[in-house]
Amino acid sequence: MSRFLSERFEKLCAYVPGEQPKDMEYIKLNTNESPYPPSPEVLRAVDENLLSGLRLYSDPECRRLREAIAKENGVSLENVFLGNGSDEVLSFIFMAYCDNKTGVSYPDISYGFYSVYSDLYGLSKNEVPLREDFSIDPRDYMNLGSTVVIANPNAPTGLCLSLEDIEKIAKSNPHNLVAIDEAYVDFGGDSGIELTKSCDNLLVVRTFSKSRSLAGARLGFAIGNPELIADLEKLRYSTNPFNVNSLSLAVGLAALEGKDYYDRIIYDIIQARECAAQKMREMGFDLTESRGNFLFAKHANLSGIELYLGLKSRGILVRHFKKPRIDDYIRITVGTPRQMDVMLCALKEMLTI
Ligand SMILES: *Cc1c(COP(=O)(O)O)cnc(C)c1O
Repeated sequence: MSRFLSERFEKLCAYVPGEQPKDMEYIKLNTNESPYPPSPEVLRAVDENLLSGLRLYSDPECRRLREAIAKENGVSLENVFLGNGSDEVLSFIFMAYCDNKTGVSYPDISYGFYSVYSDLYGLSKNEVPLREDFSIDPRDYMNLGSTVVIANPNAPTGLCLSLEDIEKIAKSNPHNLVAIDEAYVDFGGDSGIELTKSCDNLLVVRTFSKSRSLAGARLGFAIGNPELIADLEKLRYSTNPFNVNSLSLAVGLAALEGKDYYDRIIYDIIQARECAAQKMREMGFDLTESRGNFLFAKHANLSGIELYLGLKSRGILVRHFKKPRIDDYIRITVGTPRQMDVMLCALKEMLTI
């Protein structure tokens, strides 16, 4: 840290992304990326024409992609906000709707960026403990009078709240914004997008990173009522109106044309998840009922760090969180059936020595 850094960032702890080591070829099951490439439409979308268009600024309105997202989700253009990954969308939400008076509430075990953004923007944070079984108690979020952010399915537990509960949370906090982060919803959750039509304080946040195999393109969006979208646009135009580059805009549009392809790979990932979960239960693992593209598991005979290191030494990267209550667990991204078999073999070996 230099002596010039503003005092308000001195204590800020930055988000730590999953490791991307280059010392060898790992089977990478640590950052919830898709094991499958983007759709054939996406692979064809990047041509010379698109590349020569890079001399121009990207469309600051992101109009074509926002229209396509609106159509796919049964809403209108003015209900869609596009960002450079949903991380950026979330950043604008924390910037826009939380201050020290309202504060922000989110589960104590959830996506790590919520606490980072709270600190970045100097917000008072209310980290609400999950229940013993890691589920969210919806009553904890009713009549809170603070901004609420909930991942549904939650990460890294994979557990879902019902739409009835989301609706109750939104309706009981009419003077506060409620944001639902649906990064994993395509793998088995129910989307709250319909609810945004009757709850004017509800924003649903989505990403192309996980189910659309486009983590590197950085595309995320929020859906909500037009006044909320206008708030976010105001902040976006005050930060970087060209936040989504033209290659990503084209690639995102192409991805929305590949519905059959994506339906199939999502189906395959869900099958691989259920198959691996069952085999791990047979080996004595304790797993949550994950509705994401990952498993969250612990074993009585090996600690979380032992599981993580044992897999890493066998060429398989998973995520371990050094955090109270979950440091016995590892989070395993669901890969191809072949990758899952290799991972299961490694676990079996670790448990027999
Ligand atoms: C992966 C993830 C994100 C971030 O996605 P990007 O669109 O790649 O920025 C947001 N929220 C949760 C819960 C995630 O797991």
